[in-house]
This record gives sequence, C-alpha cells and structure tokens, in this order.
Amino acid sequence: MCGIMGYLGTKPVAKIIIEGLKKHEYRGYDSAGLTVLDKGTFKKARAVGRVSNLEELVSKGDFSGTVGIGHTRWATHGGVTVENAHPHESSNGNVILVHNGIIENSRAIKEELQNLGVEFFTDTDTESAAQYLGYIYNGDPKSAIEKLVARIRGAFALVIMFRDKPDEIWVARKGSPLVLAHGVGETVCASDPV
Ligand code: GLU
Repeated sequence: MCGIMGYLGTKPVAKIIIEGLKKHEYRGYDSAGLTVLDKGTFKKARAVGRVSNLEELVSKGDFSGTVGIGHTRWATHGGVTVENAHPHESSNGNVILVHNGIIENSRAIKEELQNLGVEFFTDTDTESAAQYLGYIYNGDPKSAIEKLVARIRGAFALVIMFRDKPDEIWVARKGSPLVLAHGVGETVCASDPV
C-alpha cells in the first residue's frame, strides 16, 4: 500500500500535495516525493522517512507550480532510498509518474528496454513503467498509456505527467484504488478521498 496524489488547478500545488500525502501516511510511508511541472521543467523533491521530511525539503526550494503529483511509498521492489522514492522519470525526460501497486513483469520490461539502450537508475518495478511510457510516447498520451496498460501485469494506480502537456494529468488504474474529484477550475486525484 501507499498513497498517490495529483493536482491540476490554479493554487500552489506543493502545499496541497503535502497536506494530502500526510493524510495518506497510514497507508505506508517509508519515503515520499513530489514533482511540480513549472515552465517545462519537472521540479522533483524526494525524501526518506515521513512526509514532514519532504515538507522540509520543499520549503527550502522553489516549487511554485500549480500542477503536480506526489507519493508516499511502501517499498515492494528496491530498498528505501531517495533514488527509489517516487516520482520516477523516463531517461528521455518525457514522462514522470507515481505508482501504487506492483508491476509483476517489470524485470522483463527493464531487460527489453535496456537492450534498446534505455538507461535505468533505480531498483523499483515502477521505473519500468516510466521508462516504457517515455520510450513509446510520441505526443499522444492516451495511446501511449493504452499500450503501457496492455504491457504491464499486476496491480497499479498510476498518476502521470507528460512534459509537453503542462495542463494535463493522466491516470490509469487496475486493482489499486484511485478517486477523482473535479472542482471549479481544479481536479484532484488520490488513493483515498482525503
Ligand atoms: N512497487 C512500488 C515500489 O516499490 C510502489 C510501492 C507502493 O505502492 O508504495 O516503489
């Protein structure tokens, strides 16, 4: 278990995600992380331990965007390290995502992509999804996510951002929970209705 969140709106996203992640901590919190997409750049902060450690890190940086995703991790694949904490980004920088669940065929996907020259940076199963999506993405999020969902096996809830789609957050789920809420000018998704 773990908690994932996404927010798309007009309010400063880092504070919203950190407050939301704190409410998800009961689901597991060996580490936590978030990404804000600001002027075409994914600004990423990740910390081992409680969400308050992430909060402290974020308070020292500039995370002023209004679109972002976040995660509290409960590791299944790969140790509890900053590198293994989510979000995970594709090597080509196209895609970044958070994941709740287990990708059972991650090793096969990783080997296939490594044979194609894709560099991996973590021991997580999640990175295989991020790298696969980044590798096949050609500007059409829906088609790329459909291919990803057809390729991965296991339980997943994914919240995904594409660098060239700064006004969009994409989600996919199978077997792991994810709720969506639409307000006036804002959309939130989360593992729990926090
Ligand atoms: N399997 C993923 C990992 O180990 C996600 C675990 C979770 O749901 O927190 O990073």
